[in-house]
Amino acid sequence: MDAKRKSTNSPGAGGATDSSRSQSRARGKSVVTDAKQTTNLRDLGSELDNLLASAPQRTYVPTCAVTKTLAQLDPETAEKMRQLIDHSKHQSSVVAELLSRYGFAVAYTTINRHRKRLTGSGCRCPK
Ligand SMILES: [Zn+2]
Repeated sequence: MDAKRKSTNSPGAGGATDSSRSQSRARGKSVVTDAKQTTNLRDLGSELDNLLASAPQRTYVPTCAVTKTLAQLDPETAEKMRQLIDHSKHQSSVVAELLSRYGFAVAYTTINRHRKRLTGSGCRCPK
């Protein structure tokens, strides 16, 4: 008795699943774009999850050419250069010209950006 019920139930259940699948497919035809977008956004969500889960640990502070240059100077000179860049009104082109004479290629636009970090719109070097 039990065996008979099982054998009659399982094909019936399978048939129901198949028919509901094809029904939703047929219904989806009118709103194909919506369905696609939802699927894509779901994919986007899982891709974001993957990326966030596998995000590499940041082991360095992003620095621009100015900070890289300062790191190459001896501490005393670097401090003076920091003063010149962050606390003087000398134009960035003056700083860039000085640096280039000593073999450091830093564009004045980079120095401008480095200075602007103090107001929150420049590079991401530490203030
Ligand atoms: Zn910088």
